[in-house]
Amino acid sequence: MTFQRTPAVCLRKIDFSETSQILRFFTPGQGKISCIAKGSKRKKSAFHGPFDILGVYDLIRIEKRPGTLDLLTAAERVKTFLRLPAEYPRFAAACYAAEFTDEFAPDGQPVEGLFERLVEALVRLDAGVPVADAIFSFEARALRALGFLPRVRECGVCRKAITQPEAFFSPQDGGAACSGCRTRDDRWFPVRRSTLESIARFGEGDMPREAMKRPLVVEIRQVLDSCVRQQLERELKSARFVRDAVLQV
Ligand SMILES: [Zn+2]
Repeated sequence: MTFQRTPAVCLRKIDFSETSQILRFFTPGQGKISCIAKGSKRKKSAFHGPFDILGVYDLIRIEKRPGTLDLLTAAERVKTFLRLPAEYPRFAAACYAAEFTDEFAPDGQPVEGLFERLVEALVRLDAGVPVADAIFSFEARALRALGFLPRVRECGVCRKAITQPEAFFSPQDGGAACSGCRTRDDRWFPVRRSTLESIARFGEGDMPREAMKRPLVVEIRQVLDSCVRQQLERELKSARFVRDAVLQV
Protein backbone atom coordinates (compact mmCIF):
# COMPACT_ATOMS: atom_id res chain seq x y z
CA MET A 1 0.00 0.00 0.00
CA THR A 2 1.59 3.28 -1.06
CA PHE A 3 0.49 6.73 -0.09
CA GLN A 4 0.73 9.35 -2.82
CA ARG A 5 0.73 13.06 -2.36
CA THR A 6 -0.45 15.44 -5.07
CA PRO A 7 -1.83 18.93 -5.58
CA ALA A 8 -5.32 18.79 -7.09
CA VAL A 9 -8.30 20.90 -8.18
CA CYS A 10 -11.76 19.50 -7.39
CA LEU A 11 -13.76 19.30 -10.63
CA ARG A 12 -16.83 17.42 -9.42
CA LYS A 13 -18.34 16.06 -6.25
CA ILE A 14 -21.11 13.61 -5.51
CA ASP A 15 -22.53 12.89 -2.09
CA PHE A 16 -22.01 9.18 -1.60
CA SER A 17 -23.63 8.68 1.79
CA GLU A 18 -24.55 10.72 4.85
CA THR A 19 -20.88 11.23 5.57
CA SER A 20 -18.80 10.48 2.43
CA GLN A 21 -18.12 12.09 -0.95
CA ILE A 22 -16.97 10.79 -4.32
CA LEU A 23 -14.71 13.32 -5.99
CA ARG A 24 -13.14 13.98 -9.35
CA PHE A 25 -9.87 15.89 -9.24
CA PHE A 26 -7.47 17.21 -11.82
CA THR A 27 -3.79 16.78 -10.91
CA PRO A 28 -0.53 17.80 -12.60
CA GLY A 29 1.03 14.33 -12.58
CA GLN A 30 -1.89 11.95 -13.22
CA GLY A 31 -4.47 14.09 -14.95
CA LYS A 32 -8.01 13.27 -13.85
CA ILE A 33 -8.44 10.98 -10.84
CA SER A 34 -11.53 9.79 -8.99
CA CYS A 35 -11.45 9.26 -5.24
CA ILE A 36 -13.66 8.46 -2.29
CA ALA A 37 -13.33 10.56 0.87
CA LYS A 38 -14.87 8.52 3.68
CA GLY A 39 -16.22 10.65 6.47
CA SER A 40 -15.44 13.96 4.72
CA LYS A 41 -18.84 15.38 5.67
CA ARG A 42 -18.34 14.65 9.37
CA LYS A 43 -17.50 17.60 11.58
CA LYS A 44 -14.16 16.09 12.52
CA SER A 45 -12.23 14.30 9.79
CA ALA A 46 -8.79 14.14 8.21
CA PHE A 47 -10.14 16.47 5.51
CA HIS A 48 -11.06 19.49 7.66
CA GLY A 49 -14.60 19.60 6.26
CA PRO A 50 -16.33 18.53 3.02
CA PHE A 51 -14.64 19.10 -0.35
CA ASP A 52 -15.83 21.95 -2.54
CA ILE A 53 -15.91 22.17 -6.30
CA LEU A 54 -13.08 24.46 -7.60
CA GLY A 55 -11.11 24.01 -4.34
CA VAL A 56 -7.34 23.59 -4.68
CA TYR A 57 -6.02 20.90 -2.35
CA ASP A 58 -2.96 19.02 -1.31
CA LEU A 59 -4.13 15.39 -1.24
CA ILE A 60 -2.80 12.19 0.22
CA ARG A 61 -4.35 9.11 -1.31
CA ILE A 62 -3.95 5.40 -1.76
CA GLU A 63 -4.03 4.49 -5.43
CA LYS A 64 -6.27 1.54 -6.23
CA ARG A 65 -6.60 -0.62 -9.33
CA PRO A 66 -7.37 1.29 -12.57
CA GLY A 67 -11.12 1.71 -12.93
CA THR A 68 -11.77 1.81 -9.19
CA LEU A 69 -11.84 4.76 -6.83
CA ASP A 70 -8.67 5.84 -5.03
CA LEU A 71 -8.98 6.24 -1.28
CA LEU A 72 -8.29 9.68 0.13
CA THR A 73 -6.63 9.58 3.53
CA ALA A 74 -5.93 13.28 4.16
CA ALA A 75 -6.29 16.64 2.47
CA GLU A 76 -5.45 20.23 3.08
CA ARG A 77 -6.94 23.18 1.26
CA VAL A 78 -4.11 25.25 -0.20
CA LYS A 79 -6.11 28.04 -1.85
CA THR A 80 -9.36 29.63 -0.83
CA PHE A 81 -11.30 31.76 -3.27
CA LEU A 82 -13.50 34.33 -1.60
CA ARG A 83 -14.76 36.30 -4.58
CA LEU A 84 -15.67 33.38 -6.85
CA PRO A 85 -18.69 32.08 -4.93
CA ALA A 86 -19.96 35.62 -4.35
CA GLU A 87 -19.93 36.93 -7.94
CA TYR A 88 -22.05 34.88 -10.29
CA PRO A 89 -20.31 35.67 -13.64
CA ARG A 90 -16.92 34.82 -12.10
CA PHE A 91 -18.29 31.63 -10.58
CA ALA A 92 -19.89 30.64 -13.91
CA ALA A 93 -16.58 31.17 -15.73
CA ALA A 94 -14.67 29.18 -13.11
CA CYS A 95 -17.19 26.31 -13.42
CA TYR A 96 -16.74 26.48 -17.20
CA ALA A 97 -12.94 26.12 -16.82
CA ALA A 98 -13.49 23.10 -14.55
CA GLU A 99 -15.99 21.49 -16.96
CA PHE A 100 -13.66 22.18 -19.89
CA THR A 101 -10.81 20.42 -18.06
CA ASP A 102 -13.06 17.54 -17.04
CA GLU A 103 -14.28 16.98 -20.60
CA PHE A 104 -10.99 17.45 -22.44
CA ALA A 105 -8.47 15.81 -20.10
CA PRO A 106 -8.05 12.03 -20.35
CA ASP A 107 -8.39 9.89 -17.20
CA GLY A 108 -5.15 9.11 -15.41
CA GLN A 109 -2.88 10.82 -17.96
CA PRO A 110 -1.20 14.17 -17.46
CA VAL A 111 -1.54 17.03 -19.94
CA GLU A 112 1.56 19.17 -19.66
CA GLY A 113 0.81 22.64 -18.33
CA LEU A 114 -2.96 22.20 -18.02
CA PHE A 115 -3.02 22.04 -14.21
CA GLU A 116 -1.11 25.32 -13.98
CA ARG A 117 -3.45 26.93 -16.52
CA LEU A 118 -6.55 25.87 -14.57
CA VAL A 119 -5.21 27.15 -11.24
CA GLU A 120 -4.09 30.37 -12.92
CA ALA A 121 -7.60 30.92 -14.34
CA LEU A 122 -9.22 30.41 -10.93
CA VAL A 123 -6.73 32.77 -9.27
CA ARG A 124 -7.29 35.43 -11.95
CA LEU A 125 -11.07 35.16 -11.77
CA ASP A 126 -10.94 35.46 -7.99
CA ALA A 127 -8.52 38.40 -8.16
CA GLY A 128 -10.85 40.52 -10.31
CA VAL A 129 -9.20 40.13 -13.74
CA PRO A 130 -11.90 40.77 -16.42
CA VAL A 131 -13.78 37.48 -16.94
CA ALA A 132 -13.26 37.51 -20.72
CA ASP A 133 -9.48 37.99 -20.37
CA ALA A 134 -9.14 35.23 -17.78
CA ILE A 135 -11.30 32.66 -19.57
CA PHE A 136 -10.02 33.33 -23.12
CA SER A 137 -6.44 33.05 -21.89
CA PHE A 138 -7.30 29.76 -20.18
CA GLU A 139 -9.08 28.27 -23.20
CA ALA A 140 -6.53 29.33 -25.80
CA ARG A 141 -3.63 28.01 -23.73
CA ALA A 142 -5.50 24.87 -22.70
CA LEU A 143 -6.42 24.12 -26.34
CA ARG A 144 -2.77 24.65 -27.20
CA ALA A 145 -1.60 22.29 -24.41
CA LEU A 146 -4.08 19.68 -25.70
CA GLY A 147 -2.94 20.15 -29.30
CA PHE A 148 -6.32 21.57 -30.40
CA LEU A 149 -5.55 25.27 -30.88
CA PRO A 150 -6.67 26.00 -34.45
CA ARG A 151 -4.66 27.76 -37.11
CA VAL A 152 -5.26 31.48 -36.63
CA ARG A 153 -2.47 33.41 -38.30
CA GLU A 154 -2.24 31.73 -41.67
CA CYS A 155 -4.65 30.55 -44.32
CA GLY A 156 -5.07 26.77 -44.34
CA VAL A 157 -5.36 26.66 -48.13
CA CYS A 158 -2.66 28.96 -49.56
CA ARG A 159 -0.57 28.79 -46.35
CA LYS A 160 0.12 32.50 -46.52
CA ALA A 161 -0.17 34.79 -43.51
CA ILE A 162 -3.59 36.41 -43.28
CA THR A 163 -3.12 40.12 -44.03
CA GLN A 164 -6.59 41.33 -45.02
CA PRO A 165 -8.78 42.63 -42.16
CA GLU A 166 -11.57 40.17 -43.06
CA ALA A 167 -10.98 36.43 -42.94
CA PHE A 168 -12.99 33.23 -42.48
CA PHE A 169 -12.95 30.44 -39.95
CA SER A 170 -14.00 26.82 -40.03
CA PRO A 171 -13.09 24.48 -37.17
CA GLN A 172 -13.68 21.43 -39.41
CA ASP A 173 -10.98 22.76 -41.73
CA GLY A 174 -8.48 23.37 -38.94
CA GLY A 175 -9.00 27.11 -38.56
CA ALA A 176 -8.61 30.23 -40.66
CA ALA A 177 -8.69 30.88 -44.39
CA CYS A 178 -8.19 34.11 -46.31
CA SER A 179 -11.16 35.55 -48.17
CA GLY A 180 -9.66 34.54 -51.54
CA CYS A 181 -9.31 30.86 -50.60
CA ARG A 182 -12.38 29.89 -48.60
CA THR A 183 -14.85 27.72 -50.46
CA ARG A 184 -18.48 28.76 -50.89
CA ASP A 185 -19.53 26.52 -48.12
CA ASP A 186 -21.55 27.27 -45.02
CA ARG A 187 -18.88 25.74 -42.79
CA TRP A 188 -16.98 29.03 -42.98
CA PHE A 189 -18.04 32.00 -40.94
CA PRO A 190 -16.57 35.50 -41.27
CA VAL A 191 -14.12 36.63 -38.64
CA ARG A 192 -11.87 39.64 -38.37
CA ARG A 193 -8.13 39.20 -38.54
CA SER A 194 -7.81 41.16 -35.26
CA THR A 195 -9.96 38.52 -33.53
CA LEU A 196 -7.72 35.71 -34.77
CA GLU A 197 -4.63 37.65 -33.73
CA SER A 198 -6.07 38.12 -30.23
CA ILE A 199 -6.63 34.36 -29.92
CA ALA A 200 -3.05 33.72 -31.09
CA ARG A 201 -1.75 36.11 -28.43
CA PHE A 202 -3.87 34.56 -25.69
CA GLY A 203 -2.46 31.19 -26.76
CA GLU A 204 1.05 32.54 -26.32
CA GLY A 205 0.28 33.73 -22.80
CA ASP A 206 -0.20 37.45 -23.50
CA MET A 207 -2.97 39.34 -21.74
CA PRO A 208 -4.72 42.44 -23.15
CA ARG A 209 -3.38 45.75 -21.85
CA GLU A 210 -6.77 47.44 -22.05
CA ALA A 211 -10.40 46.37 -21.91
CA MET A 212 -11.54 44.44 -24.98
CA LYS A 213 -14.48 45.93 -26.89
CA ARG A 214 -17.73 44.03 -27.00
CA PRO A 215 -17.61 42.96 -30.71
CA LEU A 216 -14.14 41.47 -30.13
CA VAL A 217 -15.32 39.57 -27.04
CA VAL A 218 -18.36 38.25 -28.95
CA GLU A 219 -16.24 37.10 -31.87
CA ILE A 220 -13.51 35.43 -29.79
CA ARG A 221 -16.27 33.58 -27.91
CA GLN A 222 -17.80 32.47 -31.22
CA VAL A 223 -14.47 31.10 -32.50
CA LEU A 224 -13.63 29.31 -29.23
CA ASP A 225 -17.16 27.85 -28.97
CA SER A 226 -16.81 26.50 -32.51
CA CYS A 227 -13.47 24.86 -31.58
CA VAL A 228 -14.92 23.19 -28.48
CA ARG A 229 -17.95 21.92 -30.44
CA GLN A 230 -15.68 20.56 -33.14
CA GLN A 231 -13.58 18.55 -30.65
CA LEU A 232 -16.33 17.33 -28.30
CA GLU A 233 -19.12 17.14 -30.90
CA ARG A 234 -21.35 19.06 -28.51
CA GLU A 235 -21.34 22.13 -26.35
CA LEU A 236 -20.22 22.23 -22.72
CA LYS A 237 -23.16 22.47 -20.30
CA SER A 238 -21.88 25.76 -18.89
CA ALA A 239 -21.16 27.31 -22.32
CA ARG A 240 -24.31 29.46 -22.37
CA PHE A 241 -23.52 30.83 -18.91
CA VAL A 242 -19.97 31.75 -19.90
CA ARG A 243 -21.27 33.55 -23.02
CA ASP A 244 -23.20 35.90 -20.72
CA ALA A 245 -20.40 36.11 -18.15
CA VAL A 246 -17.73 37.35 -20.58
CA LEU A 247 -19.90 40.32 -21.53
CA GLN A 248 -20.74 41.31 -17.96
CA VAL A 249 -17.43 41.95 -16.16
ZN1 LIG B 1 -5.50 31.69 -48.65
